[in-house]
Amino acid sequence: MSATTAAADRTVCRAVPEALPVLGRDVTVPLVTGGEVTYAALDYAASAPALQRVWDDVAAYAPYYGSVHRGAGYLSQLSTDLFENAREAVAGFLGCRPDDQVVFTRSTTDSLNLLARALPAGCRVFVFETEHHASLLPWQDADVTCLDAPRSPRQAVETLERALADRDPHGPALVCVTGASNVTGELWPVRELAAAAHAHGARIVLDAAQLAPHHPVDITGLDVDWVAFSGHKLYAPFGSGVLAGRADWLRAAEPYLAGGGASRKVTRRQDGGVDVEWHESAARHEAGSPNVIGAYSIASACKALTEAGWDALIAREEYLIAKVRAGLAAVPEVRVLSLFGDDAPRVGVISFVVEGWNSSHFAAALSAEYGIGVRDGLFCAHPLVRTLLGTGPQAQGECGAPEAAPGEKSLNAIRVSFGAGT
Ligand code: PLP
Repeated sequence: MSATTAAADRTVCRAVPEALPVLGRDVTVPLVTGGEVTYAALDYAASAPALQRVWDDVAAYAPYYGSVHRGAGYLSQLSTDLFENAREAVAGFLGCRPDDQVVFTRSTTDSLNLLARALPAGCRVFVFETEHHASLLPWQDADVTCLDAPRSPRQAVETLERALADRDPHGPALVCVTGASNVTGELWPVRELAAAAHAHGARIVLDAAQLAPHHPVDITGLDVDWVAFSGHKLYAPFGSGVLAGRADWLRAAEPYLAGGGASRKVTRRQDGGVDVEWHESAARHEAGSPNVIGAYSIASACKALTEAGWDALIAREEYLIAKVRAGLAAVPEVRVLSLFGDDAPRVGVISFVVEGWNSSHFAAALSAEYGIGVRDGLFCAHPLVRTLLGTGPQAQGECGAPEAAPGEKSLNAIRVSFGAGT
């Protein structure tokens, strides 16, 4: 490397962290070599820190923790109430219709896999190639159509309309779409996609993993059939998620897990077999002892965000987004990844590459030298990131990727993500 290049590299290396005002939580961690380091965690899109209110609520409840739906004792009764009240709180947070079910799961991935197991026979599924793997992959046993990445919200709707118009209108169909991209942060035209799906007799599930922590999600207003999201991205990191929406497919499906809690009546038959009557409520898909604290913490986060007020949260986040984007735009070597263009509305998730740099090395330097924790890679959205980087489908780029040679395209990207909740 020539002296001039090295100097230029050092300038870029300084300019990028300067473009990232400390938006995340400051975490102090012990070092193996002794002492400690405080760094800014800017990876909310992976897992957001718990809100203080969530910590407090969980700490207040923890001494009374008990198993739900199973005991006459005080702790079991209390836990059952908290668990069922959490369901109500989530239904309120999502603006559910009276007949909707709220099923507690482990995560968005779990929620979408549950829905995939509840698809009616012959169901066709439509997804964009831009989806996170959690919403791209669970449908492998169905007849899946993967749609090309659109370059505008309007093109997304038109692409979906065309694909749906080509299908047999009599069979069941499901569209799965994300509300906000975990790569670009861009908002998708959910209401319009839902209208297109319904106009063609299809149903739609919204992957709200990245949308719910940043914007209100109104299942009725958006007219989507189901919503899936994760607690740990919504400032409630206790291992739970939600699938909420239409009860009919969920009731008609075999239980997601077989076991206690999902079964209403179990009898031994004369021939040695076992007959089971399954619950028709959400419990049908919640076999086993549920994650009460996870459900309770999601409800706590929902209440805290609602009380903070979405207008204030969105205004604060938009200020932060504008600041980071302007800072990055001032560094000529930085290219921010976008499908829909600079003016697209977005949440606090920004991915970029630094020309001439391997993203993994750059991210490591941000952490080691500037105390800024970001994510690098393909963000569990391989087709989307490859499309945005302009690398071919065969390109590797997640872990252990060969370094792009000088002048070659980056094989992976850097992502900063933050939110106004904390
Ligand atoms: N959908 C999107 C858009 C995501 O960003 C993620 C996680 O990053 C998921 C789904 C999966 O969420 P989880 O890992 O909580 O199942």
